[in-house]
Amino acid sequence: MAILDNTKQIELECIYCHTRVSFDKNISGCPKCGENILEARYDLSELVVDGWLASLKQRKAGLWRYHEVLPIYDTQNVVSLGEGGTPLIKSKALAASLGLNNLYIKDERQGPTGSFKDRQATVAISALREMGVDELVVASTGNVAIAYAAYCARAGIKLWAFFPSLAPGDKMREAAVYGAEVIKITGTYDQTKELAARFAKTKGVFLDKGIKSVAAIEAMKTMAYEIAEQLGNELEGGQRWRSPDWFLQGVSGGMGPIGVGKGFREMVDFGILDKMPSMGIIQSTGCAPMVEAFGRGQRIATPNENPQTIIATLATGNPGRAYELLYDYVEQFGGTFISATDEEAFNAIRVLARSDGMSVEPATGVTFAGLFKMVRAGIIKPDDVVVVNCSGHTMPVETQILDEQWQRSVDLSQNSKAPVLPEEGLLSALEQMESTVKRIVIVEDNQDAARLISRILQARGGYEVYTANEGGEGISIIRSVRPDLVVTDLMMPGIDGFTLIDAMKSDEMMNHIPIVVVTAKELTVKERARLSGQIDLLLQKGSFIDEEFVESLISRLD
Ligand SMILES: *Cc1c(COP(=O)(O)O)cnc(C)c1O
Ligand SMILES: [Zn+2]
Repeated sequence: MAILDNTKQIELECIYCHTRVSFDKNISGCPKCGENILEARYDLSELVVDGWLASLKQRKAGLWRYHEVLPIYDTQNVVSLGEGGTPLIKSKALAASLGLNNLYIKDERQGPTGSFKDRQATVAISALREMGVDELVVASTGNVAIAYAAYCARAGIKLWAFFPSLAPGDKMREAAVYGAEVIKITGTYDQTKELAARFAKTKGVFLDKGIKSVAAIEAMKTMAYEIAEQLGNELEGGQRWRSPDWFLQGVSGGMGPIGVGKGFREMVDFGILDKMPSMGIIQSTGCAPMVEAFGRGQRIATPNENPQTIIATLATGNPGRAYELLYDYVEQFGGTFISATDEEAFNAIRVLARSDGMSVEPATGVTFAGLFKMVRAGIIKPDDVVVVNCSGHTMPVETQILDEQWQRSVDLSQNSKAPVLPEEGLLSALEQMESTVKRIVIVEDNQDAARLISRILQARGGYEVYTANEGGEGISIIRSVRPDLVVTDLMMPGIDGFTLIDAMKSDEMMNHIPIVVVTAKELTVKERARLSGQIDLLLQKGSFIDEEFVESLISRLD
């Protein structure tokens, strides 16, 4: 008894003044108050809910099985790669170690491009096809552009993908492999969005409106439908659908939880569910405007113009109205906003991978780090039914696949105070966090010697080598890197080795780090006395530096 899509009645309702207008995909805001977030409302008066639920059992898995509540009139226009219908995996080892009895992981890594942005892509690109759009501009920290690039390739739509330079190179390459025009902006994500909008306007090309587009929220809500159906099968013997007590997600712009919240609300309105889940909104500490505002009890967030996280996926500094919607949700239905540091996120990635066998991207690591904190704080109780959005996994694209012109760059850094973080920073930071990697700082003015030592160490694997060519630079690297070993020369321009050693020994943060002195200098009795008891090993720099030399260095490591 499902309604036919060609008789589907869709209206848009302003989230602020509740004015309703008929669904026109070109609409750009509320005609009455100007609010630009409008929510789709479906006239389902002809839909018999029980009949619909029964008919769903006959349909194949995937997001389009809920097409009656998606903003497409003709399913002929659907651009699909088999997205949605991701498994809801019951956690075993991780749940046990957290003392949780009902921890479920919604494995969105299993989408066609490895993140839950595939949902957004299939709905948005299908809607564009229905409108006859053939060229599109999108700004993204990575995953939206990758998903859009794949679906645009399939739909024959040309895509211009704007990335902030913080986005990992691997992600840009992945979008490029699908034929997207990749434009790297040296600036923040918020600046990238602005530039993309200007570009689209100048060129007269359709601009993806992100969270302000009906398709995005509608797409994300399908996660709620799937979760309710899957939990029903899991916990209610398939007799009815069920809400979790918690839905957790690492958040940037907030599209996921807003969509999921809308999905649960619809199901409650349809009488399919009787309970709304609480939301755990988790942000990266270096870019947590929502968490900070929530902590101050404020409904309006202060934008972070200078995000300090290497987790590009979560680097939306200005959440705008999305935060208000989530704040209202949490006030009404419960939940919390918390943050986790990059380091906590990387640790959580290892814990999840080693306990439940799931390897996730850093943004998802933030989610799990948040889960750990919420359990520890007693916010999440042992018997709560918890669903975590396992939002993404990245698969690097081999560099050889692309030609040299795959990317264009725009540098905004001259007139901005935003720091430029290294493009490959994600990977090197991950390595840096890896506890088995030993960090070694080499302070040496002879570049050849420094390079040789570091090459031998790196060839052996398991060592992260940092070099400085005089003592002052050495100290500042040692302070920030906290190495396992310092190798220093004595005679250098600027601050010499003796001074460096004194500085380290008088600083609590550095005085335990073993020091190896490598010198070509014949030491005087006075100099030997000065070093005595301060250093762990003295190596006379002979004519060559070889494996044996390095062996004696690393023997000092443990
Ligand atoms: C986009 C994204 C997020 C953040 O999602 P929002 O709901 O838009 O804040 C988290 N994790 C991954 C993997 C993402 O791609
Ligand atoms: Zn309005």
